[in-house]
Amino acid sequence: AKDQGRNTYQFYTEGMQEREVMRLELDKDLNQALTNNEFVLYFQPQLDLDTGRINSVEALIRWQHPRRGLLPPGDFIPLAEESGRITDIGRWVVMAACRQLAAWQGTPFEHLRVAVNLSGRELDDDALVDHIREALESEQVPPERLEVELTEEIFIQNIERNREQLSRLRQLGVHLAIDDFGVGYSSLGYLRDFPVDLVKIDRSFITEVTERHDDAVITHAVINLAHNLGIRVVAEGVEAEAQLDFLRHHHCNLAQGYLISRPIPAVGLEEALGKGRLV
Ligand code: C2E
Ligand code: CA
Ligand code: CA
Ligand code: CA
Repeated sequence: AKDQGRNTYQFYTEGMQEREVMRLELDKDLNQALTNNEFVLYFQPQLDLDTGRINSVEALIRWQHPRRGLLPPGDFIPLAEESGRITDIGRWVVMAACRQLAAWQGTPFEHLRVAVNLSGRELDDDALVDHIREALESEQVPPERLEVELTEEIFIQNIERNREQLSRLRQLGVHLAIDDFGVGYSSLGYLRDFPVDLVKIDRSFITEVTERHDDAVITHAVINLAHNLGIRVVAEGVEAEAQLDFLRHHHCNLAQGYLISRPIPAVGLEEALGKGRLV
């Protein structure tokens, strides 16, 4: 038993060391990633439940790593947040989204709105709003084509400054969405105090919404609350037809999830939309 304990311990520390080495390596590689143009945006469509059309997509970053292959954001975004590199990545994301929007002008996809994810850390950047304005202007994209998704964390830290940043964004004409709604903090006062256009009900409520009474009640309540405040609602993580039926029945505005489509590169999205495969 003693030996076993020691082996377990060794195995554990080796595992930790390996992870730490990988972390350090990735952190070093992140330096190069922007210069080498290794990031890509994937797009996940949102189904408009009133019209049955795709009018918006969420941009989700991927890292085409030279040795490790295509990495999901969970592998490097937290790292980039710690090191502060997230600011530059965020700028790249905004610019890439604006370029895509510009590329869609004059095509059958010009009605699409693109939502980008920004972490609380990115909101700390005073130049953020100016950068977004400049990106929109240089690509000649109407600001209302761009949406920014933020999580509830921004309502507990730096509240005053975040409120100011959000108002400036909203004045610019950019839409604001609250991501992962419901998992964060119990205070809903911010829905009153901040200019929110959209809430995205977290996937954890949707996964069992047709099986669990409590998830159904919460989802229904969030939809009603948001609607009574003039806020539209997206459900995340929709994987089953029955979930879509539930959401339609309860007048949710938009649905996003693997049932409709996984996140895909722009070319794949255009092809799927062109063939009417997503609706
Ligand atoms: P998120 O913003 O909540 O994005 C939704 C995540 O759920 C995405 O994972 C998406 O691929 C996944 N997803 C979508 N539909 C389904 C479904 O039906 N079932 C399941 N199981 N999953 C689904 P992804 O792309 O790995 O992104 C993870 C997180 O990384 C995002 O969560 C977001 O917080 C962050 N992220 C992604 N792109 C960016 C970015 O450009 N900037 C920043 N700061 N964060 C980003
Ligand atoms: Ca999001
Ligand atoms: Ca989310
Ligand atoms: Ca999330």
